[in-house]
This record gives sequence, C-alpha cells and structure tokens, in this order.
Amino acid sequence: MRLLSITESELNKLLTFELGDGHLIEAVHYRGDTLCISTQVGCHVRCAFCASGRNGLLRNLSYEEIVSQYALARSLLPVKRIAVAGIGEPLANWENVRRAFEFFRSEGLKVSFYTTGFPLGNLSQLLDLPHNGVSVSVHSLDPRTRKEIMPLGGNVEHLISFLKVKLPLLTRKKRKKVSLAYLLLKGVNDSREELVRLGQTALELGVGVTLLYYNKVGSFEPVSQQEYEDAFNLLRGMGVRVTLSTRFRKDKLGGCGTLMVRKHTDIYREEVKA
Ligand code: SF4
Repeated sequence: MRLLSITESELNKLLTFELGDGHLIEAVHYRGDTLCISTQVGCHVRCAFCASGRNGLLRNLSYEEIVSQYALARSLLPVKRIAVAGIGEPLANWENVRRAFEFFRSEGLKVSFYTTGFPLGNLSQLLDLPHNGVSVSVHSLDPRTRKEIMPLGGNVEHLISFLKVKLPLLTRKKRKKVSLAYLLLKGVNDSREELVRLGQTALELGVGVTLLYYNKVGSFEPVSQQEYEDAFNLLRGMGVRVTLSTRFRKDKLGGCGTLMVRKHTDIYREEVKA
C-alpha cells in the first residue's frame, strides 16, 4: 500500500492510497489534526447521496490497511484524532475495525465513528468501547424515505428500538457521546414533520443530533443556508442538543459522500497520471 497523491483544498487535504491489489481508497485530513479514514473498498449500504457506495462493496480493508492510512499520513501531517467516517460501513468490517481502534488508542489518539448502525450486535460492542463519539446516521425516521435514500441501511425502526434498550445501559457520560446524524436533503427529509419526529426521538433517547450539510455529488439538492439554520433552530427550540456540520465538512473535499467521487470521473484518472 502506498500514498498515491494528496489533493489540497482551502481547508482539507484528501489523501489517496493505492492498495496492493490496485484498488484506491481515500482519507481526509482536516481541522489540522484529524484524519478521517476508510474501512472498506466501496460500501454495500449504497446511500443514494453518496459517491463512495455507488458501485457497492468491493472488499473489506485488512487491519493493516486501516492502520496504514494513519501511519502514512502521520509521516507528513500532524494526527491527534481519528474519525472512522470515510469510505465503508465500519460495523460491516468489525473485527478489523475493532483491532485498529485498539491500536489507535494505544497510540494515544482520540477515535470517533460514523455508522449506519448495522449489524446491531456490532453496534452494541462499539457503544461499549472507550470511543470519543459515535454518530448513528439515520437521515430519516420514516422507513420509506430511509429506504429510498439508504437502500441497504437496515430497518430504522429496529435501529431506534435497539437504541432505546441499549442507551440506558450506558453511563450518562457515554450516552452524551452518542448522536443521531441527519443529512438534510431538500424536499426529501427536511419537512417540519420529519424534523419534529427527529427531535422527539433524540429527546426520548437522551442523545444529540448532528445536522449534516449535503456536499452535492448526486441528484439530490442541498438545503439553503437559511433552511439549514431554520432546522437547527427548530430542534434547539425543542430542547435538543444540536451540532452543525463544521466548515471542514462543508468543504468540497471534506465530507462523507464526497470520497471516491473522483474515482468515477476522468478528472480523477488525469490527476493520477499527472
Ligand atoms: S454514506 Fe457511508 S454508509 Fe452510506 S454508502 Fe456512503 S460510505 Fe456507505
């Protein structure tokens, strides 16, 4: 495995790695000290808004391939935190991800996760780990809408039922590190009714909400800045703890759903050749 290229935007650095079998994966360095890493080549969840899952899952990354993203990045850039939020669903490659987590902790790194939540048995194990944040991507609490935007993301009602049982077993401190991630897609999941349902669910579970801004890579439309702020104010008004996308995630190289977009374009091929 080798570092093939680093593409810089104003805020982030996109690192492209070539694996031993020729597959390409990506990691993003942002906020000056955080590395967002990949866990799979492709992704089986096939979120309709995401470039990474467009071609489905090609294979899991090995333990060595997961930790090597950090080892290669840290030789060039400062890394204090790992976000397991790049290409792939970490719970679908759980044994390798769990081993990598232990390695990162032994290096003194803070480690946070983004997951769609399935398999639930692995989510249960993840929530028990000494992590620094788990964001569970729901994106809609309406099963039909969720299936439309996350076709193989699992049944959202089962996910919420599981969290209702699991979260009260965690300490209050641990529960505060869990949030529901929600990507606002204009005209799809941004109605007042959907947002109120999201707020009520978060309050019932005792967790916060991370409102994500869409980096347009597919056929969906992002909400406007005003609509984004209105959604934030609605949830805040309900008493929900809400975190907004940071400016780093809004950056064009900086968010879930933007990784591997270049793999499927001629521009990417040209960049690699250059
Ligand atoms: S958003 Fe995450 S879970 Fe969904 S297809 Fe992309 S990488 Fe997979």
